[in-house]
Order: sequence, then C-alpha cells, then structure tokens
Amino acid sequence: MGNSTNPFDFDVVIVGASFAGAACAIAAAQRGLRVCVLERKQDPGDKLRTTGIIVKEAAEQTLLNQVPASMTRRIEEVRLYAPSLKQVALAAPGYYFLTTDTPAVMRWLAGQLRAHGVDLRLDAPFTTCERIDGGWKVHGAGSTRYLVGADGARSRVARRCGLGEVRQFLYGIEYEFPGATLAEPGALHCFVSKRYAPGYIGWIAQNPTGVQAGLALRHDPLNARVPDIDGFLLRVGVAGGLPRHLKPGHTRAGLIPCSGPVLDMARDRAILTGDAAGIVSPVTAGGIHSAWEHGWATGRAIAAHLRDGAAEPERVAIDAAPRFRAKRALRWAYDKLQFDWPFDLLLHSPPLRWAAEQVYFHKRRC
Ligand SMILES: Cc1cc2nc3c(=O)[nH]c(=O)nc-3n(C[C@H](O)[C@H](O)[C@H](O)COP(=O)(O)OP(=O)(O)OC[C@H]3O[C@@H](n4cnc5c(N)ncnc54)[C@H](O)[C@@H]3O)c2cc1C
Repeated sequence: MGNSTNPFDFDVVIVGASFAGAACAIAAAQRGLRVCVLERKQDPGDKLRTTGIIVKEAAEQTLLNQVPASMTRRIEEVRLYAPSLKQVALAAPGYYFLTTDTPAVMRWLAGQLRAHGVDLRLDAPFTTCERIDGGWKVHGAGSTRYLVGADGARSRVARRCGLGEVRQFLYGIEYEFPGATLAEPGALHCFVSKRYAPGYIGWIAQNPTGVQAGLALRHDPLNARVPDIDGFLLRVGVAGGLPRHLKPGHTRAGLIPCSGPVLDMARDRAILTGDAAGIVSPVTAGGIHSAWEHGWATGRAIAAHLRDGAAEPERVAIDAAPRFRAKRALRWAYDKLQFDWPFDLLLHSPPLRWAAEQVYFHKRRC
C-alpha cells in the first residue's frame, strides 16, 4: 500500500504483540499492508499474564495450529473438585485443551510476525498518540492510517483515544513449578472454593515443562484482597496430585476482563481488540481464542477497507465482538449466588455435571 499518494508511515500500528495483536498484524500483513507492532516487553516470553491454555477450536482453526508440538501438551479431561475435594471427571468425546510452554509460544508468535514482514518493535512501549488528518500519529512509531489497541486489560490506547475501558475484572494469580509432574497429568484439575477463589475457580495443570497452579477471584478495586494462593495449594495440592514441598519458580498474575465487550470499542480509525476490548468469556475467563479471532477479523477488515473499499473496519470490529450474553448472565448469578454446599452436595448429579460440561466444552461464544 506504500506509494506517493500514501503519506503515512504505516497502514496500521498495533500496540501489543500477544494473541490479539499478533493475529491482527498477521492478517493485515498477509494482505499486503504495512504493519508495525509496538511491544513494551524486551522478551515477549517474559512477565506472562496467562496460563496459556488453548482450546481445541483455536488449536485447530487458527494459525495457532502451527505452534510446534513440542510447545504443547494435550489435555482431554477436566477433573472438577467440590470444596470438600469430592471430584468428578468431565470429558466430551474428541474435545481437548492444549497446555503450553507459554514463553516459547510467545517467542514463536514474535517469529511469525517477523516472518510475515511485520515491523515488530520490542522494548517499545506505546505512550501516546494524536489524531491527524486521516489517521493517527503514534509517538515512537510515526503516522498510521489505523491504530489498534491490543494492549491488554488496562489499555493505554483506549485511554489515549477516548475509547471504552474495561471496568470489571477477575484477578488471576498462578505459580509455575518447572520440572514438576502431576500424579494425573492428563487432566485439568479445577477447584471450586468460595474461600480461596470467590467468583471463579482454582486450577492445577501439567504443561510441557512443568506444572502451573493458580486461582482467580473477583477483583474489587476498592477492597482489593491478596489471593491466598499458598493456603489454596496447601488445601488442594495433594488432591490435585501436586508433589509436596515444591518451590514455585515464576509467578504469573493479571487482571481478566469479565463483563463482556466494552462499549465504544472502535471509532475514528482507532480500534480495540482482545482483552483491551473486554473480549474474554465471563464464565471460563478464557480469552486466547476470542482475542485471536477478533484480532484476526480486525486485521482483515482494515485490509479489506484500505485495499478494496470494503465496510469500515470500526463497524466490522464491533460486529465481530462476541456479546457473551448468556455467559454474562451466568457470571452475574455466580457472583451473587456462589455457595459451596451445592457443589459438595450435587457434584455427581446429572444437572450439575451437564452444566459443568457446557461451561468447559461447549457454546464458547454465546
Ligand atoms: C492468570 C491468568 C490466566 C489466564 N489463563 C488463560 C488460559 O489458560 N486460557 C485462555 O484462553 N485465557 C486465559 N487468560 C486470559 C488470556 O490470557 C487473555 O484473554 C489473552 O492473553 C488476551 O490476549 P491479548 O492479546 O488481548 O492481551 P494480552 O495477552 O494481555 O497482551 C497484551 C500485550 O500488550 C503489551 N502491552 C501492554 N501495554 C503496552 C504498551 N503501553 N505498549 C506496548 N505494549 C504494551 C503487553 O506487554 C502484552 O504483550 C488468563 C488470564 C490471566 C490473567
């Protein structure tokens, strides 16, 4: 798209080189746009804020299907534990998740960006931008026709461009245990506990390089509570098959949007995607697949508009965002009505089992 009639340095500048940003950048670059990605980290595999579990749909239907097999591990079962630690095994024929060597996957994504001709700039934090005729001037990058904020739950792009901001979050925290092996590594172990994980769950999972164990809970900015991950692991570690007396390596932690897509996610050639746009399932708190799909749709829409005069990408991005209506209602109910006793009492009952299987294995976008 670069020619004498196009005075812009880039067709699109994307902030954030994680799932949403990478998808958007590759989709746009594949269609011939000049794409710049600004990433504040020097090493994309550093300071992670995700467990990195990839659902089957993303593992099969997106470019993530090319992640080298050595970076993933297939998990076919969910083991759900009631607060009493009674457990039930959930599975759906043919369904699976991939746990990942997430630092390696993030570095692989950076390699994919470069292989697709994207100008990836590491150690390059986005600070601010200003509106110019027909686009944006982005400090540290230059002029661009479109600016995409794929910069996570606390999006600076959203603030600087006056777009909608995510207001409701879960807070997730996780320990990594490099080299550890679970007693039952083929299952994702999920723990319901109002005490340790009010509003969400805790989990233990085997990945290709070790074990990850964490929990997420409702985040109240006015009354922030430090998650008791040590107490949680003391309580559930043995039941989940975690060897005793392990010392954690890195900690991963971050906010998880949980109230559905933001209002005002795209306007005036600025578009939010992924966590920045609030596109995370309010029930499972899974955001990798939806971030990828929405980033990809946004990158394609920008290219279709600039190359072929197709519909405005702002509109396409808004329409492509899953609304999660049913899942938002479920989140509301879980927030208000979470009690331990139904799980202790009804864990093996067909309705609870059915509901849990719906959450883990089906209807991800509704
Ligand atoms: C503890 C935890 C566990 C999770 N586990 C899972 C899971 O197992 N499976 C799942 O599907 N989802 C999970 N999620 C949610 C999932 O990680 C996110 O939904 C997903 O990563 C969103 O991708 P994204 O590209 O929108 O944003 P992010 O992954 O948050 O990436 C944002 C990127 O922008 C960069 N950035 C931020 N600000 C700037 C700036 N000013 N300048 C330049 N760069 C910037 C960041 O460094 C980062 O690379 C988890 C979340 C948390 C917090």
